Amino acid sequence: MTKRPKLFLCALTLLLATAMLPARPKARENVGIWWLETHFQLLDSVSKAIHAFAEPGYQEYKSSALLISVLEENGFTVEKGVAGIPTAFVATFGAGQPVIGVLAEYDVLPGLSQAAVPYRQPVVEDGYGHGCGHNLLGTGSLAAALAISKWLALGNPGTVKLFGCPAEEGGGAKNYMVRDGVFDGLDAAFIWHPGARNRTNLNSGSATVTIDFTFHGKSAHAGASPWDGRSAFDAVEALDYMTNLMREHVRPETRIHYALTRTNPAPNVVPDLAVVRYYIRHPELEYMKEVTERVIKAAEGAALGTGTTMSYELLNGNYPVLANSVLCDIVCKKQNEVGGVILSEEEKDFCREILKNSGRDPEDFGNFSEVAEEVGPNRPLGSGSDAGSVSFVVPTAKLYVASCTLGASGHCWQQVAVGGTTIGTKAVVNVGKIYYLTALELYRKPELLKAAREEFLKARGTDFRYESLVGDRKPPLDYRK
Ligand SMILES: [Zn+2]
Repeated sequence: MTKRPKLFLCALTLLLATAMLPARPKARENVGIWWLETHFQLLDSVSKAIHAFAEPGYQEYKSSALLISVLEENGFTVEKGVAGIPTAFVATFGAGQPVIGVLAEYDVLPGLSQAAVPYRQPVVEDGYGHGCGHNLLGTGSLAAALAISKWLALGNPGTVKLFGCPAEEGGGAKNYMVRDGVFDGLDAAFIWHPGARNRTNLNSGSATVTIDFTFHGKSAHAGASPWDGRSAFDAVEALDYMTNLMREHVRPETRIHYALTRTNPAPNVVPDLAVVRYYIRHPELEYMKEVTERVIKAAEGAALGTGTTMSYELLNGNYPVLANSVLCDIVCKKQNEVGGVILSEEEKDFCREILKNSGRDPEDFGNFSEVAEEVGPNRPLGSGSDAGSVSFVVPTAKLYVASCTLGASGHCWQQVAVGGTTIGTKAVVNVGKIYYLTALELYRKPELLKAAREEFLKARGTDFRYESLVGDRKPPLDYRK
């Protein structure tokens, strides 16, 4: 063989590479889109690595280190360990106004360890898994911030910041970051979440608190001398019972759920310790606080009636989400320009298999490619996020991109399975493009940011003053230990 085929290949590669570069003057416009389309492999490997790390809240050491290393390789300056949280960070690129922030999460849920296969198969029995798709959430936000930085790198004025926000699932790092002023100076914040559909909406979600109730009793032999004991677990049962009676006498949008996190597992021991973790939610902050007071009273009553003592610890407190309609309108237009997530036949088969194994119609997954044409209204929503607290200090844009099979709204093994495949990475790239285009619009038209801020100030009310629901306590770095 001569050297000719090699030379020919080189010339062809060069030609192809040139053809892939967007032509000027469009080049400046499309640089971020081009970057995203040529870095699928990088984003795929980051998303899958965080999926495999599966690190619980405030322990996301490998996940945050990986995101930080990619950001630093791409010229970002990174401040680590912000707000007293080792796995929280702020990565900055560019200079001057406007300043746009993209929020990343990367923590997991207990009991949802799952391989990227279309049937239930934990990687670690009873282990942690990305049941809320936060490996995608973190990587999608990374994709957006990197794409935006490529446009800023051309000499365009403005700053982009990626916020590494740990422990969204109940640990609420953003509440501590807001309290410490980490988001100060932002003109707009971008949040997104994996979903079953491509859309944006003005849903407020729910204000939420996480509270641990700890009961102390007296241990005794449950068979020989139970009368000598005072069961801490009885107190938990009494509290749960009173809460369940209370459900009829709270407004219908209220959500209260609980899980026993500690007690003696032996039935023949009267347990002297029991800890129950409560989530209390309502779309209206003040009403959520009112219900919380009632649950605390019930816990006091439970202790009185069972001869135990009670103490409680508020771990986390989220505001509801104040979605900004000026920003969400732009997001909606850009999402319609970009389009939905296009699956290959192989990926569709994967979804069909998941649905089949979940007892659902295997063809019922058709919303990956469709995009809602309008911004959805504010409908009551049972879930909440610590991003809500950010939305009360910075005008905030919301976005959902399809990355789980229909019928699965997260916090289930199906979400973990899909999130570990290229289906999830396609959603990541899609988020990058939508927020890249949204950011360019905002950098170029400061009047839009002005209108967003005006709406934001009006929606909060003139006498609004942000009050942290977590008081002055330290972040609960051990809440998953
Ligand atoms: Zn989530």
